[in-house]
Amino acid sequence: MVDYDAIVVGGGISGLLSTLALSKEGKKVLLLEKDSYLGGVCRSYNVDGYTVDTGPHIITRLEHGPLKALMDKYFEFTPVFIPHGKYYVRLGGRVLPFPWNLSAWLTFDLLPPLDRVYLMRTLFSVSYLFSSDPNLQKMSVGQLIGEGVSPETKHFLNCMCAFMTGGTSMYDTPVSRFIDSEHYKTLSDQNLVDKLYSILMKEGATDQTYPKKGIQSITDSIIASLPKEKVTIKTLEEVKVIEAGKKKTVATEKDNYTTDLVVYSGLSRDLPDVIKNLPKDYSEKLRKIKNIRSLSLWLGLKKRVFEFQGSEIWADGEPYSWVVPTSNYDPELAPKGKQLVGFGFILPKDARPEDYKKKALDRIYKIMPQMEKQVEMTHYQYLVPEKAVWTVTTEFADVKTPVDGLYLVGTDTTKKSMGVTRASYSVNQLLEELRKDKKI
Ligand SMILES: Cc1cc2nc3c(=O)[nH]c(=O)nc-3n(C[C@H](O)[C@H](O)[C@H](O)COP(=O)(O)OP(=O)(O)OC[C@H]3O[C@@H](n4cnc5c(N)ncnc54)[C@H](O)[C@@H]3O)c2cc1C
Repeated sequence: MVDYDAIVVGGGISGLLSTLALSKEGKKVLLLEKDSYLGGVCRSYNVDGYTVDTGPHIITRLEHGPLKALMDKYFEFTPVFIPHGKYYVRLGGRVLPFPWNLSAWLTFDLLPPLDRVYLMRTLFSVSYLFSSDPNLQKMSVGQLIGEGVSPETKHFLNCMCAFMTGGTSMYDTPVSRFIDSEHYKTLSDQNLVDKLYSILMKEGATDQTYPKKGIQSITDSIIASLPKEKVTIKTLEEVKVIEAGKKKTVATEKDNYTTDLVVYSGLSRDLPDVIKNLPKDYSEKLRKIKNIRSLSLWLGLKKRVFEFQGSEIWADGEPYSWVVPTSNYDPELAPKGKQLVGFGFILPKDARPEDYKKKALDRIYKIMPQMEKQVEMTHYQYLVPEKAVWTVTTEFADVKTPVDGLYLVGTDTTKKSMGVTRASYSVNQLLEELRKDKKI
């Protein structure tokens, strides 16, 4: 049986970042991935001459964030990042920039004026309340707003909540999701001036980017930075059993491996299937984590239809959609003179992806009928966008587990931020925990 200093289970972005960090910290690492490819839901591939990503992706908080911290310390190659541009809201045939601050709210006339005033007043009072009682951060947007706004504004708020959380309604979205600081502090760490500044002045989403060549370039940069002498990668090897103990045995159908340290990046709610005898209350907590599912649709257009650099939230009717014309960032993602645009939809709990495809395409053509004649490529993806969602009704795992030498990483192990940023956050936390436990 081959022995390693560390075994990383899963080769998505969090598993790859963990492998890179641990190997650069001097460990001999084995990475085991069940699929034939690395990257998990952070990949790009070619469809009829267009380079599509696994769902539209914008990387948040790049400048000061956890991914940057890992890139500065461990990457040999870094992707080129292009500024995201503005977020726009498309509603009732009109398009306006997303209202990030007070003055933008007051002129955001896609919603009735009385509703806008009510929302601003509510936000102000909540920021005062938060400073006196941090428990109020758990309050949902729905609870806070109550019946105070019109049905059309409620519909808009539901759409925004779905957009900010990856699919939850305003009754499951904590208010803190909307007034969280850009600099990773939790609301209770922020002072009132910070909070009010966010509400009044913040430009919003200025630290967001799209990686040139598609999101695969992040995955490729990590793989190219791995020190070959320290890292072994095995794909098509699903980890079936982890036997805990001072020495851990990690078993796949092909082989068994031993190690002192396991970093697990699969779905945390599946951990009790892989490792027996976890404490009962811990297993129950993990089983409460909810996953969300998404349907993405990529359209290859014969000519440029979207002129701006940025993305749109389509808030009319249902389903809501997030629209990112990725070839505006990098024209090489589409054949010359053509345009590639990705649409992200959250798949409702009971919907079948097959049934939802038509609904999604019909909604797009209803909102922009002129686009239909331009479409020459249609590609659907059914994916789990986050291993968990930021909501008030789901559990999250932690990086640290009750088992000595077993740690979890990935987007269901920390609440901070979202997506790739959240995965990176978990890896920074892993390194912190390992230092505390004197394992690196
Ligand atoms: C449609 C969509 C849109 C998104 N938009 C954004 C965005 O705009 N911005 C953003 O930052 N993020 C976005 N994300 C989220 C982001 O892609 C993910 O949060 C991130 O890539 C998750 O990385 P991960 O390593 O935590 O999980 P995963 O990518 O799921 O990786 C887990 C890996 O573990 C492997 N695995 C699981 N169990 C085992 C086992 N037992 N043995 C071996 N291997 C195993 C899996 O095969 C997989 O490769 C989006 C995702 C999707 C799908």
